[in-house]
Amino acid sequence: MSDAALFVLIFGGFAVLRIVAATVAFLFILPRGDRCPNCDRPTLRVESILFDRLLPWFRKSWCLTCGWHGLLRCGPLSESTPSKQYTGGGVRPRRRGP
Ligand SMILES: [Zn+2]
Repeated sequence: MSDAALFVLIFGGFAVLRIVAATVAFLFILPRGDRCPNCDRPTLRVESILFDRLLPWFRKSWCLTCGWHGLLRCGPLSESTPSKQYTGGGVRPRRRGP
């Protein structure tokens, strides 16, 4: 094997290894759960069939409060806070009589 091929193989391997290490490090920096990193409010999960199959341990998220969208690690989900819209309505009792 020539010196040029060895040089390309070794330094090319180091470059690829550096990219993989940086990607893994940045993915572990991502916050766990469903809280927005900007405003700490619960986010909505954005479904992506291809992304969910390739990287199932991450979730694409969208914050309704501040508009942030990005990637979070799967983790504990925050409890939903009931709103008047969902708790106030419910099933109304039927009226009796004519
Ligand atoms: Zn937010």
